[in-house]
Amino acid sequence: MTKKCPACNTGRLGKTDNIVSEIGGYVFVEKGERCSNCGQEFPFEKESQRTIELARRLGVWPEPLTLYRTLSEVGNSLVFRIPSDLERQLKLKAGDEVKVTKLGHKIVIEPV
Ligand SMILES: [Zn+2]
Repeated sequence: MTKKCPACNTGRLGKTDNIVSEIGGYVFVEKGERCSNCGQEFPFEKESQRTIELARRLGVWPEPLTLYRTLSEVGNSLVFRIPSDLERQLKLKAGDEVKVTKLGHKIVIEPV
């Protein structure tokens, strides 16, 4: 008896050994389970830990980072300054396009 997919609640999870993820330009392959219906992948916990370890050693694991900033006003618009650490880490520069997503009370800014 295979497990039901927790994502779609319809498909069944089958074993797979080719869950591919890309972190900082490196490609990691993990073993885990994949849903027969929605294709959602669930890497085994041990495999995820191994990927995190490897990515950390390679210096590409994105450390969670929380910073506080104050919004300033220019004209009639609020301006948010990107902290210089993030600017460097994400290699952002003036003129770059970003995607702004509202998630409840959060604002997610992603380089495009
Ligand atoms: Zn599914």
